Amino acid sequence: MTIDPRIVSPLLVWYRRYGRPLPWREEATPYHVWISEIMLQQTRIEAALPYYRRFLDAFPTVRALAEAEEGHLLKLWEGLGYYSRARNLKRAAETVMRDHGGELPRSVEALRRLPGIGDYTAGAIASIAYGLPAPAVDGNVLRVLSRLTADERDVLREGVKREAAAALQEIYPTAPEDAAAMTEALMELGEVVCIPNGTPQCAACPLRELCEGHRRGVAALLPTRVKKTARVTEERTVLLLFYGDKVALSRRPEEGLLAGMWEFPSRTGRLTEEALRATLSEEALIPEAIAVGPRGKHVFSHREWQLSTYLVTLAAPPEGYVMVGGEELSRDYALPSAFRIPLEAVRERLGFL
Ligand code: SF4
Repeated sequence: MTIDPRIVSPLLVWYRRYGRPLPWREEATPYHVWISEIMLQQTRIEAALPYYRRFLDAFPTVRALAEAEEGHLLKLWEGLGYYSRARNLKRAAETVMRDHGGELPRSVEALRRLPGIGDYTAGAIASIAYGLPAPAVDGNVLRVLSRLTADERDVLREGVKREAAAALQEIYPTAPEDAAAMTEALMELGEVVCIPNGTPQCAACPLRELCEGHRRGVAALLPTRVKKTARVTEERTVLLLFYGDKVALSRRPEEGLLAGMWEFPSRTGRLTEEALRATLSEEALIPEAIAVGPRGKHVFSHREWQLSTYLVTLAAPPEGYVMVGGEELSRDYALPSAFRIPLEAVRERLGFL
């Protein structure tokens, strides 16, 4: 891939004129850039904004994050998903406190060694916060570059992203404020003009005179993505076990999907009422009443859960579970969004907001 160096100037002019004033841009400290980039990895800007503000209120510095209590951290992350990102933030903050005197390191290589920081985030922090000529190529920027160069190779293929970053490196401006603006400008262009899932807004694009995809009329067909992994669908039955005004929670295993998160107990498969009774009896749980709850689905990146729910009123408190009341549940426990539908049923039953 070769990128025309003439894109730099119009791109920077456009960004300085039209770039949106986002909070992490207004005060682009290394810490702010880092937190925002991690949050934005799987989340739209509008959705991330309130999380970003709450997060910085709670943990305004690297030190505060390093000393964060995990439950509090995960609670603030609740709804963003991919909780390993939050855990890695804390681990990286601990490393920064221990090995870098509380300041994020100034080189891509050193940033790259911190937990949860890959090439993209390292490039973003190095360029935006430290003004280094370090490209940051994520799916968004890769889409822009594929269209700009009319590169039809599969962007999911090993090495394509690395090659795009190397090509971009060749033309990166070296003045610190330009390097920072270049990274922001490419991201911004991909988010508001050269948009995904639809026709790029070429008429509003500062690069249209230099864009090969636009010239050849293939921009909307790019980037090419060849999906390899099909999503696995799994039926699960969620057991909402009530005793008095409390509901049972358990903890997921430390490895695998949603590792270590709190959950409502669930079983693989869609249990009939008979199978449910057998399961309860295996655990010596005596139901006083059983009601069928809501059904729904939750889609992870490579997996889909088809959920069904039972609301079970128990005659005695169950062993091996943590029993929590409504208020406590909403205040102290971060439940993965996969349990959103069962949580609604619990809310209705226990009457909390
Ligand atoms: S001209 Fe169109 S396809 Fe090319 S970079 Fe701009 S918006 Fe994307």
